[in-house]
Order: sequence, then C-alpha cells, then structure tokens
Amino acid sequence: MTNAEAVANRIEAELAPIHAAASKAAWDINVLASSENEARRIEMEQAVSDFLADGERFALIEATRSEAAGLARRRLDLLRAAFLANQVPADLRTRIIELEGAVQMVFSTHRGVVAGRRVNDNEILDILRESDDVAERRDAWEASKTVGAAVAGDVRELARLRNTAARTVGYRDWFALSLALSEMNESKLFATLDEVDRATAGPFARWKLGLDEALAARFGCPVEELAPWHYADPFFQEVPVEGGVDVGPMLAVGDTIALSERTFTGIGFETRPVLDRSDLFPRDDKCQHAFCIDIDREGDVRVLANVVPGQYWLDTMLHELGHATFDGGIDPTLPWMLRDCHTLVTEGIAILMGRLAGDAEWLERVLGAAADDVAAIASDLRAARAAEMLVFARWVLVMTNFERSLYADPESDLDARWWELVERYQLVPAQAGRSSADWAAKIHVACAPVYYHCYLYGHLVASQLAATLARECGGLVDRPAAGALLRERIFRPGQSMRWDRLLELATGEPLTAKYFGEDLRSG
Ligand SMILES: [Zn+2]
Repeated sequence: MTNAEAVANRIEAELAPIHAAASKAAWDINVLASSENEARRIEMEQAVSDFLADGERFALIEATRSEAAGLARRRLDLLRAAFLANQVPADLRTRIIELEGAVQMVFSTHRGVVAGRRVNDNEILDILRESDDVAERRDAWEASKTVGAAVAGDVRELARLRNTAARTVGYRDWFALSLALSEMNESKLFATLDEVDRATAGPFARWKLGLDEALAARFGCPVEELAPWHYADPFFQEVPVEGGVDVGPMLAVGDTIALSERTFTGIGFETRPVLDRSDLFPRDDKCQHAFCIDIDREGDVRVLANVVPGQYWLDTMLHELGHATFDGGIDPTLPWMLRDCHTLVTEGIAILMGRLAGDAEWLERVLGAAADDVAAIASDLRAARAAEMLVFARWVLVMTNFERSLYADPESDLDARWWELVERYQLVPAQAGRSSADWAAKIHVACAPVYYHCYLYGHLVASQLAATLARECGGLVDRPAAGALLRERIFRPGQSMRWDRLLELATGEPLTAKYFGEDLRSG
C-alpha cells in the first residue's frame, strides 16, 4: 500500500461514520420538523464541518496529493475539495450551519394563507393548475411568496457569511468557490448558458405567445393583462396544461408508486428495498419537496416525496428513483470516497427517467395505454416535452444568473434584479408597485446554493445519454440492455473519474448541448 492510499484510507474511515450520522439526521429533520430533530441535525452537521475543518488532516492531504496517482490521487483530490471549503474560522462555520437550519425550519413549517385557510404547496399548485377564479389564483400566488418575506433577511445574511468563508480560502465569492469545488469551470458554464439562451430564446418566445393567447382566452382578458398568477405554478418553471398534453387522465388508472417500480424493473433494477425505506406521502411538519439520500454508501438509500396522483409526482418519483438506482449501482468495492456520484451526472440520470412520465413508448409499454390512443397524441407528447425543456431552460437561466448576482453583491436590490431576470428570460412582466423578496421564496436559493445549473446540465446529459441508448440499445423503456449500459458505464465507476471524462467515455463525446437542441427541435 502506498502512503497516499494509507492516508486516504485513514481519513475516509474516520469520516464515513460521521457522514452517515449526519445524513440520517438530515433525513430525520425532513421527515419530522421537530426541535429535537433540528438540534440533532445541527449537531451532526457541525461534527462533519469540524472534522473537515481540521488543519492537520488538510495539510496531510495537500502534502500527499502531489505524489499520488490513479485512484488514490482521485480520492485525495475529492478529500481536498471537501476539506477546503471548511478551512475557515469555527464561529463562521457554526453561524452558517445554524442559519441554514433556521431557514430550513421556516420552509418546513411556513404555510401560506388563501381565503383565511393555511395551505401547503400542493394546494397552491392545485389552485394555479385548476382554478378559473383569477382573484383566487392571485391569492394563491401571493401566498406562495410569503415564505420569501419570512426568510429574505436570513438568506442575505447567509450569502454574506458564505462569501466571507469563500474569501478566507482564496475565492472571489461563494459562487466561484462552489463551482470550483464541483469541478465546474465558470466561464465554460456561462458559455453553455449563452448557448442554451441562443437555442431557446426564439422557440420559447413563439411557444409562449401561443400559450398566452390560450390563457387570455381561458381567463377572458387581453394578453397584455396576463400576470404571474395566470401561469400554472408559482415560478413558471413548468408547462401549464394549455401548453402541453395532459396525460393525467391516462395516469389515473395506475398507481404512481407501482408504475415507478415497474419502470425500473423493466430495465433490470429492483427499487422495492428503496421504496420500503422511503417516506412517500404528504404530512404536516414534513418537508414538502422531494429528494433522494444515500445514508451510508452501504446500501441504505431512501427517497422523501409527497406523492399525490398525477403526472407531476410520477415524474418526480421516476426522477428520485433514478438517483436511488445510481447510488445503489455504484461498485461496492470502491473506496468510500469514490462510492458517490457527481451531481451533474446523477441529475442527468434522474431527468432521463423523469421524462418517461410523458413518453409515448412508456405510456404504451408500462402504463398499458392502447396503441391507438398513444399514436393519436404522440406528436403532441413530443411537443409537450420540447415545451417542458424550453420552459425549464429559461427558468434555470433566471436562477443561475440570479445566484451569481446574489453572491456578487448581497446588498444590492435583489427584488428588482429577480424581476429583471424573470422579464428577460421568462417573458413574465413584473407587477407594477410590487416590492417583495420573491427570489427568497425559492428554497434552493437558501438551502441548495449554486446547484440549480446542475439541473440544466442534467437535461443536456439526459439528452446525450438518450441518444446513446437509442443508438446502442434501441431506446430505454423495457430494455434491460439499456439498464445494463447505464449500470456499467455510468453507475459502477461512481466518482472514480471526473464527470466530464465519465460522460465522454460513456457516450463517445464530451458534454454538448447538441442533443438537447435536437430534442427541442423534434417537438
Ligand atoms: Zn434530482
């Protein structure tokens, strides 16, 4: 055994149990927002942070890394990235962890009020999807933003503290540090965002014109009077029924969980053990979002969701089980540090799976819809998929540009900056006279900072992988060979190489927006 391997072995062996306990505490607080669980989460997050802040271990990693090669070098590179962000004063780290916890608590417990009644996110979405009562829609939309006002001061403070931490270790701000630590190049990222902007601006404007005409007809107002609450979700990040195909009625025959499980069985993956460990349905004092977590890198993978019938949660379950399948498919003989996945690639897999919720072949083979019924809507489904990608790409442009502004200057007029970006990229006009921290109502800004671009990259990865699967396996749905390809080329290697290298080896070319563009045009 080389010295580098010995160093990596020792540090990983110490880190693994603390990391697992912290993951379990993160799971518990999201399942039940209680003060005990919150205290435990903060305690464990602090323990991880304290471990990663240790200067002696960091120095040892730095000293050993230069002489290391192969997998040992890779492990030490990843360890270095994990330690680097924590080489900051203890009181600063503590303050960040506590504030993140406090904000997360507000998101778990805050409920907006519509017509005097406390409503959760699903109820707000129901109103925005279904209600024809514009006053009620406006109330629901405004209720969805009240959490923003409640946390905005803390989110600004978090940005200041994170920036201080980033500058301590030599970076411009938290935005720059986060990208560097996740093996992303900032100028390449913005070049890709520009490429996506150019590819989507025209098609999006044309598509939105059609949508706005349909909405104006539905609500009986001129197009110019459409407001943010006329769209079908609080951030216009999804395609409203008017702009897509509602497969909801077809889905009513199936059970979301059973269909999700069946989808993965069809490509050779068993998800029942994950589902049995998961927490899948809505409850009070539970996180209203969805995520997948690998607790211990030893097989304890779980999903948190809030499933109700319909396409949204089917897409989400397929998405989260995509993450879970990836986690479960990593070569268990790899060292601990490498039994992990790169965020861009795991988002790519999750999005690839989530897209099946509106896929013609899936509707026929997995849902069991009649071939004639599917054929009748096949081209509409492709158009809906393209619309979904357009809407989402424009939304990510808002989020990523906003986060860069937030960290560039947390004191700036963020309320105005937010609406400037929404107007520019989503073509949704700001409401005259409204001055409110609508940006802070998006939970990712506070709790998953500098992550949103990964979803867009995930779409590019998903399109590129889908092209590879089509070429080599004839497609994805019910093709065990496609599952095997993903397992061998994407899942098994885990973090044993950089994400860009992994993707190039798996698909035969570096990451490109080409296939994303082709998927857009096919609609
Ligand atoms: Zn995801």
